Amino acid sequence: MNKDNQIEQLIYIFSKIPGLGPRSARRAVLHLLRHKDSLMRQMAISLEATANAIKFCDTCGNMDTSSPCSICIKHDRDKTTICVVESIADLWAIERSNIYSGLYHVLGGTLSAVNGRTADDLNIDSLVRRIKENNISEIILATNATMEGQTTAFYITEILAEFNLNLSRLACGLPIGGELDYLDEGTLSAALSARKAFK
Ligand SMILES: [Zn+2]
Repeated sequence: MNKDNQIEQLIYIFSKIPGLGPRSARRAVLHLLRHKDSLMRQMAISLEATANAIKFCDTCGNMDTSSPCSICIKHDRDKTTICVVESIADLWAIERSNIYSGLYHVLGGTLSAVNGRTADDLNIDSLVRRIKENNISEIILATNATMEGQTTAFYITEILAEFNLNLSRLACGLPIGGELDYLDEGTLSAALSARKAFK
C-alpha cells in the first residue's frame, strides 16, 4: 500500500474497523468519495466532535459524551438494579434489546488465568462501592456463557454474598425458533440444566 496516497490511507484506516476487511473498506471509501458533501464531510465533523467529547462514565464504565453517562442519569431507569456486563459492547447489545431499564456496571473483561487477568484488573471494587453507597436491591450477572464468564460470575457472587441482594444470572438456552438438531452442545446442555417446570 502506498501510504502517501490519501485514498489508500483512508482505505487502510477503514480496514482496521471490525467487520470491514480490505474489500469492504474499499467499497465504503468509494461510497464516501461519491457522496463527499452529503456524507463524507458530515462524517469527518462527527468523528472529530465525538473523539473530543467521548469519556468513560465514572459510575458504570460505559462510554458516552458525559460522565455520569446518559443511562446513569436518566430519571426513568430503575436505580435499584444493576446489570453487570463484561464489556461496553455487551451493555450496548442489552440496550438495543429494549427490555431492560435498570443500571449497568462494566467489568472491563473477565478473570482469566490464561491471559493473567485477576480481580484487580476488573472494575469489581467500584461495583462493591456502588452497592454500599446506593440503594441497590438486585444484581443481574450478564457475563458471557463462556468458561471465563462463568468463573467471573461465580467470583462476583462470592464477593457480594455479604450483601442482602437478589442475585441472578442470565438464563442460557434455546434461541427463539432454534431446532435442537442445529444447536451446539454447550447451548443444549445449558438449556437442559436451566430447564423450568412446565406450567
Ligand atoms: Zn454510567
